[in-house]
Amino acid sequence: MPQTNGERVVADLKRLADFGRYKTGVHRPTYSAEDVASRQWLAEKFAEARLDPAIDGIGNVIGRNPRASRRLLVGSHSETQPQGGWLDGALGVVYALELARAFAADPALAGLGVEPIAWADEEGHYGNMLGSRSFTDALPDSEIADAKSREGVPLRQALEQAGYAGRPRERLDPSRYVGYLEAHIEQGDWLDSRGLKIGVVEAIIGNWNYWVTVTGQQNHAGTTQMARRRDAAATLMRLASRIYDRFEQITGPRTVWTIGRVLVDPNAPSIVPGRAEMQVQFRDTDTGILARYESALMELVAEAERAGPCQVEIAPISKSEPALMDRAFQDLIEQAAERNAPGMHLRMPSGAGHDAQILSRRMRSAMMFVPSLNGISHHWSEDTREEDIVLGVQVFADAAAAILQAG
Ligand SMILES: [Zn+2]
Repeated sequence: MPQTNGERVVADLKRLADFGRYKTGVHRPTYSAEDVASRQWLAEKFAEARLDPAIDGIGNVIGRNPRASRRLLVGSHSETQPQGGWLDGALGVVYALELARAFAADPALAGLGVEPIAWADEEGHYGNMLGSRSFTDALPDSEIADAKSREGVPLRQALEQAGYAGRPRERLDPSRYVGYLEAHIEQGDWLDSRGLKIGVVEAIIGNWNYWVTVTGQQNHAGTTQMARRRDAAATLMRLASRIYDRFEQITGPRTVWTIGRVLVDPNAPSIVPGRAEMQVQFRDTDTGILARYESALMELVAEAERAGPCQVEIAPISKSEPALMDRAFQDLIEQAAERNAPGMHLRMPSGAGHDAQILSRRMRSAMMFVPSLNGISHHWSEDTREEDIVLGVQVFADAAAAILQAG
């Protein structure tokens, strides 16, 4: 089995966190100067590991392994959320680098190799998982032409400034790999709250989103009789309350739902609102449950529309399908976890989206989680115990070797 060097992994993670350090976390948006510098640093680390590095036309950093005949593609993203944590994405990239080094150092694993990759823009500063979609031919040129950052900067301009414009985009040749592996911090507290060390991901949740728009009549809050009002906010809040009640009745074991965005127009204390909107989201790994939620939501919206006095409309925003992880890979990750941390592992869904859901459409894919302290992520205070980082990389390497040997 490959021997990983935990001290080296922690040192590399700390070095990577220097690019855009913010308090105890990192602020490193995609294609920012810090992000570009960190990708250059990664390419140099890949070269030190005797890999052929390339930074491609969308910013993906890959280390091609010219010596291996059986390979795994292993990686995660390297940019961060605004004022985000130091491990979200970075952990999986540095684990991939360490696996490449550990495999190369072990004569018993000759011919087996890992190609590390740092995806660009999983966090969606310019789009949605740009790097992994580019790599798997799921990013049309038209989208690159149209995409803008949250601040309105065109993607084209950002790529030019980064120095990536005009470079070829690396593409997946599925025959080159046995599969894809990604390690990540859990970002929730299933592991930490149970004192467990390793999560074996069964599936990445599907995430369905809708806009609900209520149109009433804006009017004076002092002079308009209650019976004559067409108060858009009142209709929206009643509907929201019914949605919470109904969703609770039909929930699956791990379904989560959120009304995270509500707009009231004109949002003033003495005006009857003429318009109100909300975004309704639900997530589950089971398409049947997602479909059940969708019909319940549609039914409630239709009821509200019939009841009046406001007009109620619904439009889907996005519906990502759940992505199932490869079962044989899951078994081998679980066995590696059992060897290194007996009884300290858990099969679980991923409540967050990851690049592995994109790769899983094209090849066998799997994910492994390490615990997040108190389940905190997408915040600069995100952290994982050093001993858990060190244990995780050994389990991950052990699992990768088993997967490559299994054929
Ligand atoms: Zn992430």
